[in-house]
Amino acid sequence: MAKRSSETQFKILNILEKEDLGLTVTQIAEKIGLNRNSTAKYLEIMAGKELIYKVERGKTAKLFYPQRKSKTFEERANYMVSFYQLLHSVFFNDFLEDPKKAREIGYAMAKKGATDIYTKQFNGFEFTFENITQLAAIAVEITYPIPNVKAQVHINQENSHKSFLLTIENCICEGKQEYRSICEIQAGLLKGIIENLIASTKVDVKEIECRCDGKDHCTYLITQL
Ligand SMILES: [Zn+2]
Repeated sequence: MAKRSSETQFKILNILEKEDLGLTVTQIAEKIGLNRNSTAKYLEIMAGKELIYKVERGKTAKLFYPQRKSKTFEERANYMVSFYQLLHSVFFNDFLEDPKKAREIGYAMAKKGATDIYTKQFNGFEFTFENITQLAAIAVEITYPIPNVKAQVHINQENSHKSFLLTIENCICEGKQEYRSICEIQAGLLKGIIENLIASTKVDVKEIECRCDGKDHCTYLITQL
């Protein structure tokens, strides 16, 4: 997906998210500063991806809404995944080909904001490598604010004192190569959160199984250095 197309779709989605009463093609076109025909084409693409839907009012007016307003948990979860993928392709498009860069972005994100959330929540708590394993699972659930993404921690049998495995169920990459860097960003985020919570411990975070390679889950191996 071309970058400009993702950006326009993201803008449209953001505009629709703010409107309870829906918007017509003309209203959307005005708000994003595009002509009516191009706007209609974008809306068609987005409806095809089930990011938005259309309701006919009278003979000519069609109103557009974000798909979020639809009913079931499943549908809402699917919508959120599409939303995050779109967000990802807008902001990280340039780094999709470069896993190292994606990892660095995640690491920087952890330092800038994510770690604050945890340090505030666990004020006065003494961190060790052992208890960080539970916190890492919580960290994943906070950095993936999507209802059906779940994290589980497993002991790594081969090196149980110094490493553990973190399995992400329903990772947002959805096994699509174009979103693989979501997992790399997450690896950087995890490394940053862990290293900044336990200041004296450096860790290596490696994705050892990915849905992009046809596996059921994305799994990270986290090793104390
Ligand atoms: Zn993955």
